[in-house]
Amino acid sequence: MAASGKLSTFRLPPLPTIREIIKLFRLRAVKQLSQNFLLDLRLTDKIVRKAGDLTDAHVYEVGPGPGGITRSILNANVAELLVVEKDTRFIPGLQMLSDAAPGKLRIVHGDVLTFKVEKAFPESLKRPWEDDPPNVHIIGNLPFSVSTPLIIKWLESASHRDGPFAYGRTRMTLTFQKEVAERLVATTGSKQRSRLSIMAQYLCDVKHIFTIPGQAFIPKPEVDVGVVHFTPLTQPKIEQPFKLVEKVVQNAFQFRRKYCHHGLGMLFPEAQRLESTGRLLQLADVDPTLRPCHLSLLHFKSLCDIYRKMCDEDPQLFAYNFREELRQRKSKNQNKDDNRESCRL
Ligand code: SAM
Repeated sequence: MAASGKLSTFRLPPLPTIREIIKLFRLRAVKQLSQNFLLDLRLTDKIVRKAGDLTDAHVYEVGPGPGGITRSILNANVAELLVVEKDTRFIPGLQMLSDAAPGKLRIVHGDVLTFKVEKAFPESLKRPWEDDPPNVHIIGNLPFSVSTPLIIKWLESASHRDGPFAYGRTRMTLTFQKEVAERLVATTGSKQRSRLSIMAQYLCDVKHIFTIPGQAFIPKPEVDVGVVHFTPLTQPKIEQPFKLVEKVVQNAFQFRRKYCHHGLGMLFPEAQRLESTGRLLQLADVDPTLRPCHLSLLHFKSLCDIYRKMCDEDPQLFAYNFREELRQRKSKNQNKDDNRESCRL
């Protein structure tokens, strides 16, 4: 150890630029796969800096592609970097980085949507949930079509404390389409307030740390990109099962422009809708004429707590799905029409 108490720092040796790597390995971005690469190492350094102090960290990078962010992570003095990449074309370029950083980079050819990260790092990294976050970080710039379903999956994992959160309150720094980043952090009453705002904020401290203009990517995407940092909360703001919270939030936001009682009413079968919605709103102390975007996390906490009580009283209630009822009604009507038609024939 150096006199300053810091471990000696690691820097990658001089390497071909990312642009040269793209040329060398013919890594043309596949538009259908929404591949947009970051070539500016000042920007990739900035993403990595904003992830926090990565000294001695174990980092999981999702979708490294040609390796811009990968280089910045390796230069941040990490203990180990695990990358999971779906497209085989990128593996040789990543292998070159691995050779330049012996023992530091582990490459997995796989899919981040199914990869089991809970087994990837040493058990000794695990921290009790209430402690400071473990020295395990997730970083990535994925296609938008993957990052949104992935964050929903990981929020559910955070609520169960499994997957990446088997280590404790693992921090994540991920990119999203700017509008999605804005929704993730939207506060009560703002135009962008949505289902995603509640689901993310009841479980995590969420920060939109900066925006990267579309022109920084090759090829340029249609939209700008938001970099978002998540730290799971020691105590979730709603203490009910994830699926129950998801159901209440989904229903509340399904008629965005109407009063919240319209959407929340759809939690209940038609025969009891009026009465049960009134009871839910009254016991939760929520004004039925608030619009969904004006509901605070505290409102959602009360709504979920009361809905949970109502589900405990009526075990059939949670399974009720008004869309399913609508679908069945439609198909019944369709059958009636078909029968009428065949009688006429
Ligand atoms: N991170 C690189 C950068 O910033 O330049 C590449 C970004 S590109 C938008 C997304 C990368 O994620 C591509 O390399 C793509 O092949 C990879 N990818 C897409 N879906 C994936 C998945 N399900 N699992 C793993 N990698 C995936």
